[in-house]
Amino acid sequence: MTNAVAFVASAFLLFEWHLLRERSLAYWSAGFAAIVVGCAITPLREAGFFIAGVWLANGMLVLAHVAFLYGTASFLGRRISPAWCLVLPAWALMLAVPEDGARTQILSLVNALLVAVLSLRSAQMLGGLRGRRDPDTTLLAFAFLGHGGFYLLKTLMAFVPGAFIDLSHYTGLMISISLFEGIMMEVALALSIVGALRRRRERSIVRLAEHDPLTGLLNRRGFDARARAVLAQEDGPVALLLLDIDHFKSINDGYGHPEGDRLLVALGVFLNSTLPHRAIWGRLGGDEFAVLLPRTDVFGALTLAKALCQGFARVGGGRGQGGTLSIGCATYAEGAIDLEALSAVADRALYDAKRQGRNRASHREVAGEPLAKSRVASESGSHPVVAAITPPDRVNSPEALSAR
Ligand code: GH3
Ligand code: MG
Repeated sequence: MTNAVAFVASAFLLFEWHLLRERSLAYWSAGFAAIVVGCAITPLREAGFFIAGVWLANGMLVLAHVAFLYGTASFLGRRISPAWCLVLPAWALMLAVPEDGARTQILSLVNALLVAVLSLRSAQMLGGLRGRRDPDTTLLAFAFLGHGGFYLLKTLMAFVPGAFIDLSHYTGLMISISLFEGIMMEVALALSIVGALRRRRERSIVRLAEHDPLTGLLNRRGFDARARAVLAQEDGPVALLLLDIDHFKSINDGYGHPEGDRLLVALGVFLNSTLPHRAIWGRLGGDEFAVLLPRTDVFGALTLAKALCQGFARVGGGRGQGGTLSIGCATYAEGAIDLEALSAVADRALYDAKRQGRNRASHREVAGEPLAKSRVASESGSHPVVAAITPPDRVNSPEALSAR
């Protein structure tokens, strides 16, 4: 039974490796294959072949756990010391144990100890011994933890009188429990390995779908999802900044597309290093970026917008016409607001900034209708949002900012 389950697990993981080309799967499949070979030669002990039936069969179990450990390291993208392979020569030394009554007991003890140490090391690498675990690998960590703990218990049992494990005849209570545990461990490991890999791939697909490959920032989809989640909980003042690089086309035309790309990346780096922790920002597409600022009033939003314009003029400067930012800033003082309403107002404010001569921020306040009412208005055909309340030139003047 143990052999059949190990065979299926090995074949299944090999097939998964064939599909996914994840090296860790190859290690884990090889580990189960070693268990298959070990189980297959175990009956030889009944025929008196001690080396093949006991030493080699149990050595295969150690080899399997070395493969599991390397599979774990490969899954986590971590290097593991080659010193762990020394457990194999350590097992080879068992051949030197004299052939007296205690030989199988010593072999059983060393075998259980090596399996326990290798499994617990895998569990530790997966964070199984720490409080905070990666949800992707929690099951796998617990599978190794349970298995390593069981083998530690088995090691200690070797010292308990009457719990003698007779490896030559494959009998004893501990052997029966061990076979039962072996089947459970094989199923648990194989399932949790594949589950962990699938979950990790899913997360990386979601990450790819929500991020812009050029700048590494959230793309429109990622930004929208996060912004909507924040707005659904916000009840205080909130601001949305729409940023657009000035004369970006002429930068592409004059300096080449790669230089345009470099400027987009520079803007991403600049935003990452400048924006406050609570902000959400992303590249919506082309040269347009957005920043959502929860718990931020008009003054805070415009101070930041101005700092962004000035800071980026330094970062992106030296490219003739362009290399500066225009920013449309929409604020909403109180109550619930949806992203569409806020974006529409910020878009108009951005248009104002462009029209006023670029390299500046312009502000519009969303009309103070609660969301429920604005939705009703929207559904009944009238326009739910907005009026410009602050002339852009006043917004941009240092006097206006300091007076607030
Ligand atoms: P304005 O000051 O009015 O914003 O003028 P503009 O030239 O910047 O006009 P606009 O914002 O419409 O230009 C967007 C340009 O961005 C058009 C497109 O060729 C370019 N673009 C879009 N995506 C990329 C990209 O990934 N890399 C580069 N280098 N250029 C891009
Ligand atoms: Mg532009």
